[in-house]
Amino acid sequence: MTVLDTCPFCPRLCRHVCPVTAATAREAATPTAIATVLRLVGEGKLPGELATAALEFCNGCGACARHCGVQQDVPALVRGRRDRPVPAALPALSVAGDERTIRVEVGTEGALGAANTPDALGHAAVMAGDQAHVDRVAAHFAGWTVLTGSHAIAEVLAAAAASAGRGLHVLMDAPPDGGPRFVTCWEGARGDDGQIACCGAREGYELRQPGIAGAMAAEGVRRMGARKHGCADSHCAAWLRAHAGDVEGPRADQPG
Ligand code: SF4
Ligand code: SF4
Repeated sequence: MTVLDTCPFCPRLCRHVCPVTAATAREAATPTAIATVLRLVGEGKLPGELATAALEFCNGCGACARHCGVQQDVPALVRGRRDRPVPAALPALSVAGDERTIRVEVGTEGALGAANTPDALGHAAVMAGDQAHVDRVAAHFAGWTVLTGSHAIAEVLAAAAASAGRGLHVLMDAPPDGGPRFVTCWEGARGDDGQIACCGAREGYELRQPGIAGAMAAEGVRRMGARKHGCADSHCAAWLRAHAGDVEGPRADQPG
Protein backbone atom coordinates (compact mmCIF):
# COMPACT_ATOMS: atom_id res chain seq x y z
CA MET A 1 0.00 0.00 0.00
CA THR A 2 1.29 3.44 -0.87
CA VAL A 3 1.04 6.67 1.10
CA LEU A 4 -1.72 7.89 -1.23
CA ASP A 5 -3.70 4.67 -0.67
CA THR A 6 -3.30 4.78 3.11
CA CYS A 7 -2.80 8.20 4.68
CA PRO A 8 -5.92 9.93 3.28
CA PHE A 9 -8.03 7.32 5.11
CA CYS A 10 -6.09 7.43 8.38
CA PRO A 11 -7.69 9.15 11.40
CA ARG A 12 -4.64 11.44 11.65
CA LEU A 13 -2.77 9.03 13.92
CA CYS A 14 0.53 10.88 13.49
CA ARG A 15 -0.92 14.38 13.79
CA HIS A 16 0.54 14.97 17.25
CA VAL A 17 4.14 14.21 16.23
CA CYS A 18 4.26 16.58 13.23
CA PRO A 19 6.11 19.69 14.42
CA VAL A 20 4.68 21.84 11.64
CA THR A 21 1.16 20.94 12.70
CA ALA A 22 2.03 21.64 16.33
CA ALA A 23 3.51 25.05 15.49
CA THR A 24 0.81 26.18 13.08
CA ALA A 25 -2.28 24.44 14.54
CA ARG A 26 -3.38 24.00 10.94
CA GLU A 27 -5.13 20.83 9.81
CA ALA A 28 -3.79 21.47 6.31
CA ALA A 29 -0.27 20.84 7.65
CA THR A 30 -1.00 17.34 8.96
CA PRO A 31 0.59 14.43 7.10
CA THR A 32 -2.93 13.09 6.50
CA ALA A 33 -4.04 16.35 4.87
CA ILE A 34 -0.91 16.58 2.71
CA ALA A 35 -1.48 13.07 1.40
CA THR A 36 -5.18 13.74 0.88
CA VAL A 37 -4.50 16.84 -1.22
CA LEU A 38 -1.93 14.99 -3.32
CA ARG A 39 -4.39 12.15 -3.92
CA LEU A 40 -7.24 14.47 -4.89
CA VAL A 41 -5.00 16.51 -7.19
CA GLY A 42 -3.87 13.27 -8.79
CA GLU A 43 -7.52 12.31 -9.37
CA GLY A 44 -8.21 15.71 -10.95
CA LYS A 45 -10.56 16.74 -8.14
CA LEU A 46 -8.43 19.66 -6.92
CA PRO A 47 -6.30 22.20 -8.84
CA GLY A 48 -2.61 21.41 -9.14
CA GLU A 49 -1.42 24.50 -7.28
CA LEU A 50 -2.88 23.07 -4.08
CA ALA A 51 -0.39 20.22 -4.34
CA THR A 52 2.49 22.71 -4.41
CA ALA A 53 1.13 24.43 -1.32
CA ALA A 54 0.66 21.10 0.49
CA LEU A 55 4.21 19.97 -0.30
CA GLU A 56 5.61 23.20 1.15
CA PHE A 57 4.17 22.45 4.59
CA CYS A 58 6.49 19.49 5.14
CA ASN A 59 10.15 19.96 6.04
CA GLY A 60 11.06 16.30 5.90
CA CYS A 61 11.73 15.82 9.62
CA GLY A 62 10.53 12.23 9.41
CA ALA A 63 8.58 12.21 12.69
CA CYS A 64 5.40 10.90 11.07
CA ALA A 65 7.22 8.09 9.25
CA ARG A 66 8.86 6.94 12.49
CA HIS A 67 5.55 7.05 14.34
CA CYS A 68 3.46 5.34 11.66
CA GLY A 69 2.24 1.87 12.56
CA VAL A 70 1.84 0.82 8.94
CA GLN A 71 5.22 2.00 7.64
CA GLN A 72 4.07 4.90 5.48
CA ASP A 73 6.72 7.45 4.53
CA VAL A 74 5.13 10.83 3.83
CA PRO A 75 8.44 12.78 3.69
CA ALA A 76 9.80 10.42 1.03
CA LEU A 77 6.71 11.05 -1.07
CA VAL A 78 7.04 14.81 -0.54
CA ARG A 79 10.73 14.86 -1.51
CA GLY A 80 10.01 12.90 -4.65
CA ARG A 81 7.36 15.37 -5.79
CA ARG A 82 9.08 18.64 -4.99
CA ASP A 83 10.69 20.65 -7.72
CA ARG A 84 14.10 21.39 -6.24
CA PRO A 85 16.78 22.05 -8.86
CA VAL A 86 20.12 20.33 -8.49
CA PRO A 87 22.83 23.02 -8.13
CA ALA A 88 24.48 23.84 -11.44
CA ALA A 89 27.91 23.90 -9.84
CA LEU A 90 29.19 22.84 -6.45
CA PRO A 91 31.04 25.53 -4.46
CA ALA A 92 34.78 25.61 -5.07
CA LEU A 93 36.95 24.31 -2.22
CA SER A 94 39.53 26.90 -1.28
CA VAL A 95 42.11 26.49 1.46
CA ALA A 96 45.63 27.70 1.90
CA GLY A 97 48.61 25.47 1.13
CA ASP A 98 48.26 21.70 1.24
CA GLU A 99 45.54 21.64 3.89
CA ARG A 100 43.05 18.86 3.12
CA THR A 101 40.72 19.38 6.07
CA ILE A 102 37.92 21.92 5.85
CA ARG A 103 35.12 23.04 8.11
CA VAL A 104 31.71 23.49 6.50
CA GLU A 105 29.03 25.32 8.44
CA VAL A 106 25.82 26.99 7.44
CA GLY A 107 25.75 30.74 7.08
CA THR A 108 29.43 31.38 7.75
CA GLU A 109 32.25 32.37 5.47
CA GLY A 110 34.01 29.02 5.61
CA ALA A 111 35.85 26.95 3.07
CA LEU A 112 32.90 27.16 0.72
CA GLY A 113 32.40 30.91 1.14
CA ALA A 114 28.94 32.42 1.28
CA ALA A 115 27.49 29.46 -0.65
CA ASN A 116 27.94 27.40 2.50
CA THR A 117 24.47 25.88 2.71
CA PRO A 118 22.88 22.44 2.39
CA ASP A 119 20.97 23.71 -0.66
CA ALA A 120 24.25 24.70 -2.34
CA LEU A 121 25.35 21.10 -1.92
CA GLY A 122 22.06 19.78 -3.30
CA HIS A 123 20.68 18.40 -0.04
CA ALA A 124 17.18 17.93 -1.42
CA ALA A 125 18.49 16.00 -4.43
CA VAL A 126 20.54 13.74 -2.18
CA MET A 127 17.60 13.09 0.14
CA ALA A 128 15.44 12.34 -2.89
CA GLY A 129 17.92 9.63 -3.89
CA ASP A 130 19.50 11.37 -6.89
CA GLN A 131 22.48 9.03 -7.24
CA ALA A 132 24.05 11.04 -10.08
CA HIS A 133 24.24 14.06 -7.81
CA VAL A 134 25.56 11.99 -4.90
CA ASP A 135 28.36 10.82 -7.19
CA ARG A 136 29.11 14.44 -8.18
CA VAL A 137 29.44 15.43 -4.53
CA ALA A 138 31.65 12.41 -3.84
CA ALA A 139 33.99 13.35 -6.67
CA HIS A 140 34.01 17.00 -5.60
CA PHE A 141 35.10 16.23 -2.03
CA ALA A 142 37.29 13.20 -2.76
CA GLY A 143 40.42 13.22 -0.60
CA TRP A 144 39.09 15.79 1.87
CA THR A 145 38.26 15.54 5.55
CA VAL A 146 35.20 17.64 6.28
CA LEU A 147 34.20 18.90 9.71
CA THR A 148 30.65 20.05 10.22
CA GLY A 149 28.14 20.58 12.98
CA SER A 150 25.26 20.68 10.51
CA HIS A 151 23.27 17.47 10.18
CA ALA A 152 21.99 18.48 6.75
CA ILE A 153 25.48 19.04 5.38
CA ALA A 154 26.61 15.83 7.07
CA GLU A 155 23.73 13.96 5.41
CA VAL A 156 24.93 15.11 1.99
CA LEU A 157 28.56 14.26 2.68
CA ALA A 158 27.77 10.96 4.41
CA ALA A 159 25.79 9.85 1.36
CA ALA A 160 28.72 10.87 -0.83
CA ALA A 161 31.19 9.05 1.39
CA ALA A 162 29.08 5.90 1.32
CA SER A 163 28.87 6.14 -2.45
CA ALA A 164 32.58 6.79 -2.97
CA GLY A 165 33.60 4.24 -0.36
CA ARG A 166 36.86 6.05 0.23
CA GLY A 167 38.62 9.37 0.39
CA LEU A 168 36.00 11.42 2.23
CA HIS A 169 35.64 11.66 5.97
CA VAL A 170 32.80 13.47 7.73
CA LEU A 171 33.06 14.28 11.42
CA MET A 172 30.02 15.46 13.34
CA ASP A 173 30.36 17.46 16.53
CA ALA A 174 29.32 15.22 19.41
CA PRO A 175 27.61 16.21 22.67
CA PRO A 176 30.19 16.25 25.47
CA ASP A 177 30.06 13.56 28.15
CA GLY A 178 28.24 14.74 31.24
CA GLY A 179 27.15 17.90 29.46
CA PRO A 180 23.67 19.35 29.23
CA ARG A 181 20.78 17.30 27.96
CA PHE A 182 21.23 17.78 24.27
CA VAL A 183 18.42 17.20 21.87
CA THR A 184 19.02 16.75 18.22
CA CYS A 185 17.03 15.39 15.33
CA TRP A 186 20.23 13.96 13.84
CA GLU A 187 19.08 10.45 14.70
CA GLY A 188 15.42 11.19 14.38
CA ALA A 189 12.90 13.76 15.45
CA ARG A 190 11.39 12.90 18.78
CA GLY A 191 7.96 14.25 19.46
CA ASP A 192 6.32 11.49 21.48
CA ASP A 193 8.07 12.28 24.74
CA GLY A 194 7.76 16.03 24.61
CA GLN A 195 11.25 16.73 23.37
CA ILE A 196 11.96 19.05 20.50
CA ALA A 197 10.75 17.29 17.38
CA CYS A 198 12.21 19.68 14.84
CA CYS A 199 13.30 23.29 15.20
CA GLY A 200 12.32 24.08 11.63
CA ALA A 201 15.84 24.75 10.33
CA ARG A 202 15.96 21.71 8.11
CA GLU A 203 16.34 21.27 4.36
CA GLY A 204 16.24 25.05 3.85
CA TYR A 205 12.75 25.23 5.39
CA GLU A 206 13.82 28.23 7.47
CA LEU A 207 14.50 30.09 4.21
CA ARG A 208 11.27 29.08 2.48
CA GLN A 209 8.95 29.23 5.49
CA PRO A 210 10.67 31.51 8.04
CA GLY A 211 7.47 32.29 9.93
CA ILE A 212 6.51 28.64 10.45
CA ALA A 213 10.10 27.59 11.17
CA GLY A 214 10.42 30.31 13.82
CA ALA A 215 7.18 29.13 15.42
CA MET A 216 8.50 25.55 15.37
CA ALA A 217 11.62 26.63 17.26
CA ALA A 218 9.55 28.43 19.88
CA GLU A 219 7.13 25.50 20.21
CA GLY A 220 9.96 22.99 20.50
CA VAL A 221 11.59 24.88 23.36
CA ARG A 222 8.20 25.39 25.03
CA ARG A 223 7.69 21.60 24.99
CA MET A 224 11.03 21.16 26.71
CA GLY A 225 9.70 23.15 29.64
CA ALA A 226 12.14 23.60 32.49
CA ARG A 227 14.46 20.87 31.26
CA LYS A 228 17.85 21.97 30.12
CA HIS A 229 17.83 22.04 26.38
CA GLY A 230 20.24 22.37 23.57
CA CYS A 231 21.11 20.99 20.22
CA ALA A 232 24.20 19.20 18.98
CA ASP A 233 23.72 20.69 15.52
CA SER A 234 25.42 24.08 15.15
CA HIS A 235 23.00 25.31 12.51
CA CYS A 236 19.88 24.33 14.46
CA ALA A 237 21.35 25.61 17.73
CA ALA A 238 21.87 29.01 16.12
CA TRP A 239 18.30 28.97 14.79
CA LEU A 240 16.93 28.04 18.22
CA ARG A 241 18.96 30.82 19.85
CA ALA A 242 17.57 33.34 17.37
CA HIS A 243 13.94 32.32 17.95
CA ALA A 244 13.65 30.77 21.38
CA GLY A 245 16.25 32.30 23.65
CA ASP A 246 19.48 30.93 24.98
CA VAL A 247 19.96 27.35 23.83
CA GLU A 248 23.09 25.38 24.45
CA GLY A 249 25.00 23.81 21.62
CA PRO A 250 28.03 24.22 19.38
CA ARG A 251 28.51 27.54 17.64
CA ALA A 252 29.38 27.62 13.99
CA ASP A 253 31.96 30.36 14.57
CA GLN A 254 33.93 28.21 17.02
CA PRO A 255 37.06 26.58 15.63
CA GLY A 256 36.62 22.90 14.86
S1 SF4 B 1 1.93 8.23 8.08
FE1 SF4 B 1 0.83 6.54 9.11
S2 SF4 B 1 -0.08 7.50 10.96
FE2 SF4 B 1 0.48 9.19 9.53
S3 SF4 B 1 -1.36 9.60 8.28
FE3 SF4 B 1 -0.14 8.07 7.15
S4 SF4 B 1 -0.95 6.06 7.78
FE4 SF4 B 1 -1.63 7.57 9.33
S1 SF4 C 1 8.02 14.67 7.77
FE1 SF4 C 1 7.76 15.99 9.60
S2 SF4 C 1 7.01 17.98 8.80
FE2 SF4 C 1 6.69 16.42 7.18
S3 SF4 C 1 4.56 15.72 7.47
FE3 SF4 C 1 5.94 14.28 8.58
S4 SF4 C 1 6.02 15.06 10.70
FE4 SF4 C 1 5.20 16.75 9.41
